[in-house]
Amino acid sequence: MNRKGWTALLILACCFLAIAAQAQTVRGNSQDLVPTGKGYGVHHAQGQAKGGNHGGGGGGNGIFYHGGPVLTNGVNVYYIWYGNWSGNSAVNILTDLANGIGGSSYFNINTTYYDGNNVPVLNSVTYQGSTNDSYSHGTALSDSAIQAIVSGAISGGLPKDPNAVYFVLTSADVNETSGFCTSYCGWHTHGTIGGTDIKYSFIGNPDRCPSACSVGEAPNGNAGADGMASIISHELEEATTDPDLNAWYDRRGYENADKCAWTFGTTYGPSGSQYNMTFGGRDWLIQQNWVNASGGYCAVSY
Ligand SMILES: [Zn+2]
Repeated sequence: MNRKGWTALLILACCFLAIAAQAQTVRGNSQDLVPTGKGYGVHHAQGQAKGGNHGGGGGGNGIFYHGGPVLTNGVNVYYIWYGNWSGNSAVNILTDLANGIGGSSYFNINTTYYDGNNVPVLNSVTYQGSTNDSYSHGTALSDSAIQAIVSGAISGGLPKDPNAVYFVLTSADVNETSGFCTSYCGWHTHGTIGGTDIKYSFIGNPDRCPSACSVGEAPNGNAGADGMASIISHELEEATTDPDLNAWYDRRGYENADKCAWTFGTTYGPSGSQYNMTFGGRDWLIQQNWVNASGGYCAVSY
C-alpha cells in the first residue's frame, strides 16, 4: 500500500470511529425506517460518510425523494471568509471553484435529481460574491455562531437569497466546537434569517487537521484550500438536492454526496498533486457524487 493508501486508511479508521456516535441514532434503526432528518440533520456532516460503502439501498437508484424543496432555479453561492485569510492563495483557488463548478460535467450529476413536480436541478451555479468576517465570534465557534455569522453577513450587505448557499470558510486557527476534525470536516443546514429560509454551510480548514479532513494531495499547491474545494463541493451538491434536509437521502440518512464521500475514482498527475477533474482553469481532487440514474452509482461526471 502506498503512502496515499495508508493516509486513506488512517482517515477511514479515525473518522469512522469518531462519527459512529454522532450517527448512531440513524444507524441503530432498521435500514427500512425512513430517517426523520433530525437524527442526522441538525447539521449534516461531511465527515459522516467516511465509513464509506453506502451504495444501494434496495431498489430504484438507492436514494429517495421525501417531498421537500430542491434548488431547481440554479444555485447562487456566497462566501464568508471568516478569520484571517490574508496572503492565502485559498481565496483565489476557491473563488475559481465557485466560478467554474456550474456547467461542469461534475455538477451535472445533480441534474439527475428533481423536485415534487419533476422539475430537475439545473447545471447552474453562480458565484455572487463574498464578504470578510474578522473573528466576530472568536476562534471557537458553536453551531449557532455559524448561523449568527451568516446573519451578520446578510445584515452587513450580502443579499438575502433563498436560492443560495452561504459558505462560512474558516481559517486554520478557527475551530467549530461541535466536532470539526473529530466528527466532520464541514456541514450544511438551513435556518430562518430575516423571515427567509437561508441555506448555509460550515467549511473547516483541513490545515487544522490534515489527517482527518485533507484530500492528501494538493493539485493547486495549497493543501488546506484543495481539501476545502472537495468539502465545499460535497456540501454544495447536498444543499442543492436536500436544502432543508427533507428531500433526497437514502434509508440510512445519507444525502447524495455522502454516498460517495472520500472516493475519487481515477486520479491523474504526479504524487502530491493528483487530480481527478478539471474545470474553471484548474485541476481538482474532489470526491465523487451519486448519480440518481441507471440504478445509482458514484461518478465524477455525468
Ligand atoms: Zn454530507
